[in-house]
Amino acid sequence: MPYLQPFDPWKSPLCTCPTKYSLNPYTGCGHRCLYCYATSFIKDFYHPRPKKEFLRIIEREIKNIPEGSLISLSNSSDPYQPLEETYKLTRKFLELLLERNYRILIITKSDLVLRDLELLAKLRCAVSLTITSKTLYPKLEPFAPSYEKRLQTIKALSEAKIPVSVRLDPIIPVLNEGEILEILDEIAPYVKHITVSTYKAKPDSLKRLIDAFPEKKSFFEKLYLKEGKRFGNAIYLRDEIRYKLIYPVYQKARRYNLSFATCREGLKDFKNPEKCDGSFLIP
Ligand code: SF4
Repeated sequence: MPYLQPFDPWKSPLCTCPTKYSLNPYTGCGHRCLYCYATSFIKDFYHPRPKKEFLRIIEREIKNIPEGSLISLSNSSDPYQPLEETYKLTRKFLELLLERNYRILIITKSDLVLRDLELLAKLRCAVSLTITSKTLYPKLEPFAPSYEKRLQTIKALSEAKIPVSVRLDPIIPVLNEGEILEILDEIAPYVKHITVSTYKAKPDSLKRLIDAFPEKKSFFEKLYLKEGKRFGNAIYLRDEIRYKLIYPVYQKARRYNLSFATCREGLKDFKNPEKCDGSFLIP
């Protein structure tokens, strides 16, 4: 299977992303987020490893990708996860693009992206930073950078004039729904676009959440296993619950005059096709 391939979100009719290519320099991810959906389809996901012969293969594959294309790093791992400090595969790939005209979307939770600030400034790129919680990240995302570091990263990207959007997701009922609104207050001066989505359960991620928050076991089981609805390969909350979780964020984003989209929710009021991933910010 090629390393650089057309983005295919399991053919989900709810995905509103623009056409793009997807690249994961690493298989698996060291941030070990409890809610991660990729653990359900990638073996040994929490034991990340660099892709074999990454540079040699990617140098060949990039020649087949039309210039001007949008390339997204990464959709099933974090391109600036801890391994990147050692292997620098993401950086080497970006260096490869210096003489070429591609549009790059970086999706990360890590302040390590700031190491490549000068490089990013020379490319046509935007960064989408994900924040889920101010206080629960040590439990929800045990090996990802702190909330404070992510906030500093957003500010530094904004000062460097690199377009930055924020994914406030996943919104998990009761756990972080209040905090998401506080976070939005703090990031609003530095970002142009917000993407939100609710937590869609898979058997393994739901088990991890329940193990981490045993006092919420019956609550989560009721919302997802009893009342939730299966869509594709995930279990969604009922529409009215998702609407209630998203609407306050939408209202606040509007007050701050930020562009707003949801990710694979399918709720008609919040549709913003082609803008959901923040790639429209790329110069
Ligand atoms: S950063 Fe993304 S890919 Fe990595 S574990 Fe967390 S949710 Fe999964």
